[in-house]
Amino acid sequence: MRKAWINAEIWNKEDTAFLTEDEHIVLTGTTEEVLAEADKDTEIIDLHRSFVTPGFIDTHLHLAGLGSFKNGVQLYQCKSVEELLERIRRKAETVHSGWIIARGYNEEYFDIPVRPTRQMLDEVSRDLPIAVIRTCGHVMSVNSKAMELAGINETTTVEGGKIDFEHGFMDENALSLIKGAYGNIDMNTLKEWIMLAAGELNRFGITSCCSDDYVSVVKDWKMVTDAFMQLSYQGKLNVRVSEQCEFESPQDLASFLDEGYTTGVGDDYFQIGPLKMICDGSLGAETAAMTKDYPDHPGEKGILIYEDEDLDTYVQLANQYNMPAICHAIGDRTLDQVLNTFEKYVLPGNPLHYGIVHCQIMRPDQIQKVIDMNLDCYFQSLFVDDDAQILPQRVDEKLAECSYPYRTLFHHVLAGNGSDAPVTIPDALRGIYLAVTRRSTTTGDTMNPAECLTVDEAIASYTVNGAKLMGREDELGEIKAGMLADFTVMDKNLTKIPVEEILSTKILMTVSGGRIVYGE
Ligand SMILES: [Zn+2]
Repeated sequence: MRKAWINAEIWNKEDTAFLTEDEHIVLTGTTEEVLAEADKDTEIIDLHRSFVTPGFIDTHLHLAGLGSFKNGVQLYQCKSVEELLERIRRKAETVHSGWIIARGYNEEYFDIPVRPTRQMLDEVSRDLPIAVIRTCGHVMSVNSKAMELAGINETTTVEGGKIDFEHGFMDENALSLIKGAYGNIDMNTLKEWIMLAAGELNRFGITSCCSDDYVSVVKDWKMVTDAFMQLSYQGKLNVRVSEQCEFESPQDLASFLDEGYTTGVGDDYFQIGPLKMICDGSLGAETAAMTKDYPDHPGEKGILIYEDEDLDTYVQLANQYNMPAICHAIGDRTLDQVLNTFEKYVLPGNPLHYGIVHCQIMRPDQIQKVIDMNLDCYFQSLFVDDDAQILPQRVDEKLAECSYPYRTLFHHVLAGNGSDAPVTIPDALRGIYLAVTRRSTTTGDTMNPAECLTVDEAIASYTVNGAKLMGREDELGEIKAGMLADFTVMDKNLTKIPVEEILSTKILMTVSGGRIVYGE
């Protein structure tokens, strides 16, 4: 099927139109040139001077987790612990069995910043197990029933995590005890959640993503891979996915590699990406591993999830199969650990594309090392909304200045943007706005303005750079003949409007492989 998309303003191009044939772009040019190639079977779509960019690419999120989040109790924008409990209570009144999973609160926005406790959740229900996950996904509060079902008592401990039995607090690896008790969902539910999340991404103009799913809602890499591959094969996956492969044990990674999976394996809509390692916690929950104590909690330096040797075991194993590693590193102590490991495996120029996910607390010497090793960077400008306010409370002024160094990274290494959804709502336009302003839309706090991107750079961080991080820059990230027909149509030209208007810009249409998957 041929379609002529005419009268557009195309980002970074003189062209005003393009012709697609099935899933590819076959010609770009002026509206007249493109219409000249149309025949009687060509569908003509007049874009009325709308703005067209390559489809947005979110380079780090959790699709299955986002689907599960959309399916559970959503706690975004809760203003008090009472409101949080009320939202959970409303859900508890409508269900009679199974777990209640609530996620997305941030106590920094409460009138009084408190963490929900076991006692509070017991008041909501003593019969239904309840788990409440903070927006960052690194800490959780549970009720007594949840701990009972997970087999947790006063003496339970967990490596790489912390349990406060009295208050029902679970940190880092302790979450997996509770998640293990949720019970596994079946294949159909998993597929439904993935499609629910993909629909959500399309709504924000996103056509591709790098997604980390193997240990989030089902701890079964094979089942997750099968779900994606079946959806892709059936033509039901409306976002292209590069899987950031996280594993529970080196044995799991070994059996994955043993079955012939490694980076690049897959098809048009689902491909295996790099090995993903979560090496510390979050800044909000003060579980990110720091060199210095958190100023408001003397003696507290956060949590390193892996021993050096364990991290090394994973990375070495994957490296033998040409599978690069990308590591979640938020605190500077974690980044030291990751850089030390990488130094053993990354070849000059980093041809395999090893990378750092989040890139938040970084010292100047570490930034220089990242540049020297040419490491890929996966950052999330959407974090500015929550973190601009807390950064000055977490690190000293000098370190705050050089942290979240988006501009420096963008100019020196391959750096792409993303949402880490469901940690944030995967609103790419808001992400572009925050990369350009570094000013929180919720609190008005700003981060070092020297690290702001231009609008063009911010769009590139969501398009062409994302395509490169997926290893698919020959097919994605540009409106050009030969490329896949993935693009996003907006009502305003982001490069020509006052920055504030980016927030009110509307996604009119999202197109994947020539098919309209959102809008009309
Ligand atoms: Zn993540």
